[in-house]
Amino acid sequence: MPPQSQQRSSHNDGIRRYVLLRDKKCCQWPGCGSSSGIDVLFLIETENGAPPSGENVYKNGVTLCPKHMDIVNLHDKAFGPLIFDLIQLVEFERDLDRTERTYKDILNK
Ligand SMILES: [Zn+2]
Repeated sequence: MPPQSQQRSSHNDGIRRYVLLRDKKCCQWPGCGSSSGIDVLFLIETENGAPPSGENVYKNGVTLCPKHMDIVNLHDKAFGPLIFDLIQLVEFERDLDRTERTYKDILNK
């Protein structure tokens, strides 16, 4: 899960670093994996589903290449839920990866 922080100014930077590291600076669109010109698409923290007031606070995000970033931004409403699912999937994959490594470490001892 992404880092939790009380300091808003550094929190968003922290989320960006977390997402880039987790996604290994590669587009996470299924089957893409491009690493050129990538950027992070952020999920924004909302309170009770209402739009946040003032400064946006990032909740999580996913790394995308320019092509897939454009597709998502063009069809914002249609892709919103899909992006949410994609982020869940990437997080899940990371957890699986960690679990696998932990077990391998145990077996190698
Ligand atoms: Zn892509």
